[in-house]
Amino acid sequence: MSNFNVQQILRENIKKLKPYEAVEIPCKIKLDANESPFPVKISQIVDDINIPLNRYPDPEAIELRKQIAKKLKLKYKNILIGNGSDEIIYYLILTFGGPVLYPVPTFAMYGIIAQSVGVNTIESGLDINFDLNENDFLSLIKEKKPSLIFLSSPNNPTGNTFSSDKILKIIDIARKTSSIVVVDEAYQPFCSEKGFLPFLKDFDNLLILRTFSKIGLAGLRIGYLIGNEEILKEVSKVKLPYNVDSLTQFIAAKALNSFYDEIKTFIRDIKREREYLQRELSKIRGIKVFPSEANFILFQVKDSKNIYEKLIKEGILIRNLSSTIKGALRVTVGTKEENKTFIETIRKILENRK
Ligand SMILES: *Cc1c(COP(=O)(O)O)cnc(C)c1O
Repeated sequence: MSNFNVQQILRENIKKLKPYEAVEIPCKIKLDANESPFPVKISQIVDDINIPLNRYPDPEAIELRKQIAKKLKLKYKNILIGNGSDEIIYYLILTFGGPVLYPVPTFAMYGIIAQSVGVNTIESGLDINFDLNENDFLSLIKEKKPSLIFLSSPNNPTGNTFSSDKILKIIDIARKTSSIVVVDEAYQPFCSEKGFLPFLKDFDNLLILRTFSKIGLAGLRIGYLIGNEEILKEVSKVKLPYNVDSLTQFIAAKALNSFYDEIKTFIRDIKREREYLQRELSKIRGIKVFPSEANFILFQVKDSKNIYEKLIKEGILIRNLSSTIKGALRVTVGTKEENKTFIETIRKILENRK
């Protein structure tokens, strides 16, 4: 046996780091990860994959960036591609360092990545409506002068958007402290509001993050950053040259053309099913449902951990957020059948509880 002690060489920030928990519990109905429930085969997107696999992929992903830029009516130099938006969050923090400011509860990766890179984080608690605490947020910006501010809107895991007036005020104040504001619009396609693309021309410290993951193509791992070309140029310095493989670049670019109508149909169906889930969940006694502009719904229930586990026994996996928000569970919108089964099952579990 060796005496090798990995702890001796581990950086201090990694010792304290809790890994991102993606629990893989095999269940018939998977409503835990905010994926699209609709299966997609590669052959639905491309019929002939003509990719020279002996060559490295395009390090600049020009074709895919052009396709995205066309959809957004921007220039391809305003787009940076990542292996999922997670990778872009990582690159942003590597490039600009800390402190990194974000509200809580929110997407866990902002904090996890900051900590693994070794930069300080600043957290500002949301108010009782899960909106930004404006005074606290603005004074933290002025006082701590963060390099980066992450705002997930619609927010994961709460499902609501933050008030756009507050976001605009934050961007404005952040400009004075030379802070970059990243509005993470992973759930924008499901939202009734417009989002922040129209404000890019007004603020050069605003960046927007989008992803293919929640709209049906999570397996591809494509996220993209939109904004100021000068900022993106600096971020691309830390980007690994071949972060997105040629197959993925090809399929993702095609999907924006030949598969776009299907994606729009997915989104429409999800939004309709979200209304169903919202309505049915709020009819069940003992459940408090929060409004959602995303493809998932947050709700509170007494004895949440127990309910979560009973659902697993019935073959339904959702997300247990009780350690983040008291009594909170998060369910991703599934297919019509999955949602119906989920509602019937949770209703039965709660009725038998009395
Ligand atoms: C799911 C999610 C992401 C991660 O997206 P990927 O592109 O799959 O890495 C980013 N931000 C938020 C808020 C998310 O919920």
